[in-house]
Amino acid sequence: MSELQQTTIDAFRGLFGGSVLEPADSGYDDARQIWNAMIDRKPALIARCKSAEDVVAAVNFGREQRMLVSVKGGGHNIAGNAVCDDGLMIDLSQMKDVEIDADNRRALVGPGCTLADFDAAAQSHGLATPLGINSTTGVAGLTLGGGFGWLSRKFGMTIDNLISADVVTADGRMILASDSENPDLFWGLRGGGGNFGIVTSFEFKLHPVGPDLLSGLMVFPFGQAKSVLTQFARFTETMPDELNVWMVMRHAPPLPFLPESVHGERIVALAICYAGDPAVGQKLIEPLRSFGDAHGEHVGVQPFADWQQAFDPLLTEGARNYWKSHNFVKLTDEVLEVLIEYGSKLPSPHCEIFIGSLGGATGRVAADAMAYSSRDANYVMNVHGRWEKPEEDDRCRGWARAFFEAAKPYASSGAYINFLSQDETDRVEFAYGAAYERLVEVKNKYDPENLFRVNQNIRPH
Ligand SMILES: Cc1cc2nc3c(=O)[nH]c(=O)nc-3n(C[C@H](O)[C@H](O)[C@H](O)COP(=O)(O)OP(=O)(O)OC[C@H]3O[C@@H](n4cnc5c(N)ncnc54)[C@H](O)[C@@H]3O)c2cc1C
Repeated sequence: MSELQQTTIDAFRGLFGGSVLEPADSGYDDARQIWNAMIDRKPALIARCKSAEDVVAAVNFGREQRMLVSVKGGGHNIAGNAVCDDGLMIDLSQMKDVEIDADNRRALVGPGCTLADFDAAAQSHGLATPLGINSTTGVAGLTLGGGFGWLSRKFGMTIDNLISADVVTADGRMILASDSENPDLFWGLRGGGGNFGIVTSFEFKLHPVGPDLLSGLMVFPFGQAKSVLTQFARFTETMPDELNVWMVMRHAPPLPFLPESVHGERIVALAICYAGDPAVGQKLIEPLRSFGDAHGEHVGVQPFADWQQAFDPLLTEGARNYWKSHNFVKLTDEVLEVLIEYGSKLPSPHCEIFIGSLGGATGRVAADAMAYSSRDANYVMNVHGRWEKPEEDDRCRGWARAFFEAAKPYASSGAYINFLSQDETDRVEFAYGAAYERLVEVKNKYDPENLFRVNQNIRPH
């Protein structure tokens, strides 16, 4: 670093309310670490923001110094877009304010909040908005890509519940995006990722949920996968919006309700959540028990906030991860065969294949209403390659890629940008489909120099 640059950095530090970290500073390595251990990038500077004013200062600094800029919310993005090499990482992870207005069922959520932060605050009032299924995920990145989880069939995607967002644009302005203020930007933010600016506060609609709900797991032997998957595919086509059932194929973790002999064996699990009266839910899920002869189940009424964390132990940070994903309108027998074939070849004890069920309220929004346009996706498949050692990279990635190719003929249009890996930049246009051209127009208006390009990038013309 030259003296001039050091002077410039020191001047920036003087203006900044948060901390500015250089590689030799303590805390630098913690701050640059993200969920996916495949990504090991070293920014020249990390600006740990405490306020929207800090975000403005960091954006202006990055732009004026012509630095590559990345933005970190929860740091969960599989492609590692929170962090860049040799540039400026604008780290929002300390901006964790959550304000709940229970009377008006509204929440203001800081861009550093994890799902756990938001759920804890909202559930203390018996309220929630649809988020994802792993509580350490960042609200910011999840929302900007679309966002879906257990409550989405009933209340829609996360973006369907976004009322407004405070945004710092590439030229350092603080503006509001909502249906009435900068509606083009608001359209783009709801699915367009971090392409248009940095959101410093999200305003969400809240709904009465729980706080106790019927939820849990049923675990079947992998040998019964055909029966379980076929019935899962048909059952999920007609289930009510309150009910959500996802399918996971993996090696069994040592869950206390499973016999020890099953631990480590291949299984098919159904993950269940009923966002309504538990007694009604119990009746509705009864047919699932006849999908096979289960190894065991753990289904009951429990705090929704706990269920939101049920998968956390399987999704801890620090492992090597590579994902491939498809959308499906329908799970045909042909695609189920592919799922079972690759489920029988899981290349590591941590790899899994899951099918998340959407539909319900997520499909009742016009495809052009927001940047997220895959409203016909009733299922999102995530081929979740996950392993521990670099020497397993080729084998596990090879499995995920081969599986992705084999399932491709049955996939529908579009893809979920929040599940795209770092080598899938060529899928961005496909992911957005018909929305892409309009996204380019929004990009041209709000970030014509492409300052925000460490993301699933929409290139300005
Ligand atoms: C274990 C796991 C489980 C998941 N489960 C689900 C799920 O159930 N449902 C679901 O929908 N998704 C799920 N996801 C995907 C998740 O939505 C994405 O990984 C998302 O990008 C995470 O957001 P983040 O803030 O943690 O990520 P980050 O890596 O911090 O950011 C992701 C992207 O958003 C940009 N960004 C972040 N904050 C801002 C901001 N404030 N303003 C502008 N741009 C910003 C970043 O620059 C980056 O490009 C899961 C991911 C993981 C790893």
